[in-house]
Amino acid sequence: MSQSLDLVQVRSLVKHYPITRGVVFSRQVGAVRAVDGVNFSIARGETLGLVGESGCGKTTTGKIMIRLEQPTSGSVLFEGTDVFKAKGQQLKQIRRDIKIIFQDPHSALNPRMSVNDIIAEPFTVHTALKPRDIRQRVRELLEVVGLNPSYANRYPNEFSGGQRQRIGIARAIAVNPKLIICDEPVSALDVSIQAQIINLLKKLQKEFNLTYLFIAHDLSVVKHMSDRIAVMYLGRIVEMNDAKDLYRNPNHPYTQALLAAIPIPDPTVSRKRLQLEGTVPSPINPPTGCAFHPRCPQALPECSRIVPQLVEVGPNHYSACLLNQEQSTTLTASV
Ligand code: SF4
Repeated sequence: MSQSLDLVQVRSLVKHYPITRGVVFSRQVGAVRAVDGVNFSIARGETLGLVGESGCGKTTTGKIMIRLEQPTSGSVLFEGTDVFKAKGQQLKQIRRDIKIIFQDPHSALNPRMSVNDIIAEPFTVHTALKPRDIRQRVRELLEVVGLNPSYANRYPNEFSGGQRQRIGIARAIAVNPKLIICDEPVSALDVSIQAQIINLLKKLQKEFNLTYLFIAHDLSVVKHMSDRIAVMYLGRIVEMNDAKDLYRNPNHPYTQALLAAIPIPDPTVSRKRLQLEGTVPSPINPPTGCAFHPRCPQALPECSRIVPQLVEVGPNHYSACLLNQEQSTTLTASV
């Protein structure tokens, strides 16, 4: 993918939360390594799925991209501009161009504000539209997200979870952003509603030429959304590939385990279960070498010593597993 097509580039992103001890002379005694050197780009109009279990750093990555968190090091370039160096008008434009849809539609909307005021807020901040025109735009947006425009005077507690998420989406797209961080936008919703919201996001992407970072904790949700998928484990990307190929040809044992955990809705079809042992280790004291080695069914003796690097294992396909190096060493030895 050509560099010039990239809307956003995340480079060597690190976020460590210091752990301090002592009240008067507090000193740092450790760090929570939430994000530990993440790199990816998203092209205009593309959807990148970012997947991993809770605590792997995917939400922190999204929050850094929209400046809700400050990185420890690394950078986020949006249309070539460093998001953390932007000031004044440039920063205001970035805040208009990058929006977020939160996981929990209940807490994301202010219960004391009417739907009209919630969706009108971005217009008040970013445009010079008159109140009457803003009201008109709010009604149009409600229609676009599949809600009755007459709901504008109601309050969030009068809506279901799916309807609230539609209100959150209307607010996110209000001032024509370029990039939307979708932070687990369907995880808190009933399964029957999830497909409706995913279809709505896909429809809006086409209509408004949107680019998405779609964060989710399982691979089944991102399947129908993503052009490419990055799989995260304990602060790092362990595999990245075109979505279709990732499902057909997963390389990393962690991706293989995540895929094996997806239920098949057909009782006549069975799939070999690759059970993931244990839970994600603490990011305060991550395992040495490959962080996945205590849970990996294919771990080699050297996996506890050597940190595997993300290497190209096929066209546009990257994986961080020592098995790939092992295979290439075996091949070289047998030639
Ligand atoms: Fe498993 Fe080793 Fe590969 Fe890590 S590097 S995923 S422990 S085989």
